[in-house]
Amino acid sequence: MRSFEATKHFFQQAADQLELADSLRTYLITPRRELQVQIPVEMDNGSLRSLIGYRVQHNRARGPMKGGLRYHPEVDLDEIRSLASLMTWKTAVVNIPYGGAKGGIAIDVSKLSARELERITRKFIDEIHQMIGPDFDIPAPDMGTDHRVMAWIMDQYDKYHGFNPGVVTGKPVEYYGIPGREEATGRGVGILTLKLLGRLGRKVAGARIAIQGFGNVGTHTAKFLSEAECKIVAISDSTGGYFRADGIDVPQALRYAIEHERLLHGFPDADRISNEQVLELDVDVLIPAAIGGVITAANAPRVKAPIVIEAANAPIEPAADALLEKKGVVVLPDILANAGGVTVSYFEWVQNRQYYQWSLDRVRQELDKTLNIAFEQTWDLARERNVSLRTAAFMLGIDRVARAATLGGIS
Ligand code: NAD
Repeated sequence: MRSFEATKHFFQQAADQLELADSLRTYLITPRRELQVQIPVEMDNGSLRSLIGYRVQHNRARGPMKGGLRYHPEVDLDEIRSLASLMTWKTAVVNIPYGGAKGGIAIDVSKLSARELERITRKFIDEIHQMIGPDFDIPAPDMGTDHRVMAWIMDQYDKYHGFNPGVVTGKPVEYYGIPGREEATGRGVGILTLKLLGRLGRKVAGARIAIQGFGNVGTHTAKFLSEAECKIVAISDSTGGYFRADGIDVPQALRYAIEHERLLHGFPDADRISNEQVLELDVDVLIPAAIGGVITAANAPRVKAPIVIEAANAPIEPAADALLEKKGVVVLPDILANAGGVTVSYFEWVQNRQYYQWSLDRVRQELDKTLNIAFEQTWDLARERNVSLRTAAFMLGIDRVARAATLGGIS
């Protein structure tokens, strides 16, 4: 199933529970604006490459549209559209005053030099600068982009519109960023995993965890949960999976990845397994933290973990979601599980508007508070309506957006 179809499926499940009128459903699901641009760039060897970039603005009923930029070879308009709509529900679930957007470029960053990455990013901003802005649409990091890319975006936007650090979040701390943004998504995944384990009456210490993806989200999730005394038995990245029944030494894996161009290839003290096997391990918690669509109807019957935390966006296809629910697997959905990143992005934007630097302690406390409220509201609604956590989170988000849109006047 195409990504946007999958997101629509989850939307409709929640809209049915909310008994939303068809006309309101159509308005809520339809993106406000979609842009596709050509990005012609000169590569280091003098050759010319024409890349395709996208920015989709899904909904702005609750505030400026917010969402990351993904640089990945599989990026296409359908995927970006789906991710943009997830951002609308995500910002609403954690109740921050934003709508949803997403962008990206179909490119493999592992094959680019830093100078090529910078040229591509600046050219992309040349093409989309008129449709972004601190009160309208605010990009952030996602797969394949990081604080350096965000700094180039701020600088390039400045050339057209003047200095305004609130145009982008996830910037370096020394360049108008906020302490704790880099760790925020993974930390949020960790905080919510511990909350869910607690609610389900399961022990945290020694809980066996498998994590797919060892980038920004996967590494910070592994660090947080290993410090909370969980046992990270498997990690993985695009080079494959690494398993150790006694628990991976997470600090050692982090050091190894830093020393090897952020890849785990050749990581010692662990058995090599495939990325597919990582998803099927006999663990207490499975955390997909890489790409979308990895749990399908084909492999869902082999998923043994009783708890799945969607750190990645859209890692479970709808047919697989139904199979997991039938098996009694508890899934913490992406629009709540990985909302720590956009929450701290919001704090960064507030900080930029106030020209006031927050401390790491304050960021962590406020993140904890925001995620706790969103978790409790989702958990209570799921219990009250006897629906999955996914349907409850979508209900919470959709209801908030629908109310704001109706109050403000849609047409
Ligand atoms: P990243 O680029 O930092 O890391 C991605 C990781 O996934 C890398 O370790 C890469 O090797 C691995 N990977 C790529 N293809 C893979 C494959 N086929 N199998 C296994 N591993 C593979 O990206 P990130 O920022 O950590 O994002 C990961 C996921 O989390 C994405 O789905 C993203 O949308 C979501 N997310 C990220 C943020 C954020 O703040 N960065 C916020 C919310 C959601």
